Amino acid sequence: VKIVLDYDKCSGNGICESIAPEYYHVADDGDLVLLKEQVSDQDIGAIRRTVAECPTGALTLAPQ
Ligand code: SF4
Repeated sequence: VKIVLDYDKCSGNGICESIAPEYYHVADDGDLVLLKEQVSDQDIGAIRRTVAECPTGALTLAPQ
């Protein structure tokens, strides 16, 4: 699967980065940068957590 980020919904609070810093990075200007889109099998649990815990619903998963 791949991560889909809705930039309009993201508030840049960095919760996703705290869970999976190899995928998400909040830049100095507050914009979230998606470091990787494609989710490896070993990371899917952590990425599902970021989707569930994002308070603004900015993250979804899509088939690749
Ligand atoms: S947890 Fe959601 S709102 Fe917060 S930085 Fe990540 S995508 Fe944006």
